[in-house]
Amino acid sequence: MGHIFNFSAGPAVLPTEVLQQARDEMLDWHGSGMSVMEMSHRGKEFMSIAAKVEADLRELVGIPANYKVLFLSGGASSQFAMVPMNLLRGKKSANYVNTGEWSKKAIKEAKKYCTVNIAASSEDANFTYVPPQDAWHVDPGAAYLHYTPNETIGGVEFNWIPDLSRVNGDMPLVADISSSFMSRPLDITRFGLIYAGAQKNMGPAGLTVVIAREDLLGATVPGTPTMFDYKIHADNDSMYNTPPTYPMYIAGLVFEWLKKKGGLSAMESINIAKAKLLYDLFDTTDFYRCPVARADRSRMNVPFTLKNTALDDEFLKQAQARGLIQLKGHRSVGGMRASIYNAMPLEGVRVLVEFMKEFASNHA
Ligand SMILES: *Cc1c(COP(=O)(O)O)cnc(C)c1O
Repeated sequence: MGHIFNFSAGPAVLPTEVLQQARDEMLDWHGSGMSVMEMSHRGKEFMSIAAKVEADLRELVGIPANYKVLFLSGGASSQFAMVPMNLLRGKKSANYVNTGEWSKKAIKEAKKYCTVNIAASSEDANFTYVPPQDAWHVDPGAAYLHYTPNETIGGVEFNWIPDLSRVNGDMPLVADISSSFMSRPLDITRFGLIYAGAQKNMGPAGLTVVIAREDLLGATVPGTPTMFDYKIHADNDSMYNTPPTYPMYIAGLVFEWLKKKGGLSAMESINIAKAKLLYDLFDTTDFYRCPVARADRSRMNVPFTLKNTALDDEFLKQAQARGLIQLKGHRSVGGMRASIYNAMPLEGVRVLVEFMKEFASNHA
């Protein structure tokens, strides 16, 4: 197989350098005679890996000491339940902003534990925009406000952080940041809690990172399973049970790669440039269309349709033949989607855009 560019939404492309290093260390990590997969999570080798993973993550994002970093399994989907179980703290309701498929899943799960106030929704326009905050109806007595900064399926991204100080300065802001975490700098102090599955922009599936303000933890709803209590994981440095050791190790290699690349500001510049290549194309032709409102276009997941949908299969077939793979859109929305996470090089997007221009002129 020749060189390919993988536009999958997740599990997604990883930096080649990271995979090469993992290959080189596969059978013998740093002279230990073991693969990382074979190490006790409580042994000194893995403890040193885990400490470095957390330290590098804290450095890259700028996470203050009063925030706990948890390395969990169960995917972002488990967080849809863990968030209300841990953050309701005696309250009866929570605010949710509904901007698409992932928001909807979070809302559905939260309804098992509390009354959900939909503070805002873009369902009226098929989830193609972010409702401006002026139009939100936030319940000031609710326990927290949850939103999805980047809707992976719809390709809708908040380019701003909600400001709850006007409503209730104590209300924690909670974000499912699975598909845009580490794609740009993030002021973590604006949030009570964020969570992200690793397989979009951080590493392999199996690891979920939770970053939570310490004072919010410890008041779970009655009956919360031990494994769903953030405080248990925080007090045990994510070693209450066996954490996803190998995905943590790979995420650690990704963090080292990010540091070498210049950190999150440097990534942001590249991500802006990559997204611009695609969106500029949509703005100069009507052969391709992007349904998302201009201001809310995602830098990570770029959905688009062909004006003539009868050409969809031919488009995908020719793209595949060029090594441009996994461009088919999500089954719920159809069309195409190019996911262009940190590990997708600028060159990959250039090659895609060249192909798209050529395909358009051949089928004009
Ligand atoms: C992928 C994704 C999820 C689900 O992640 P799982 O690890 O499959 O549970 C949730 N939210 C967002 C925004 C996602 O992109």
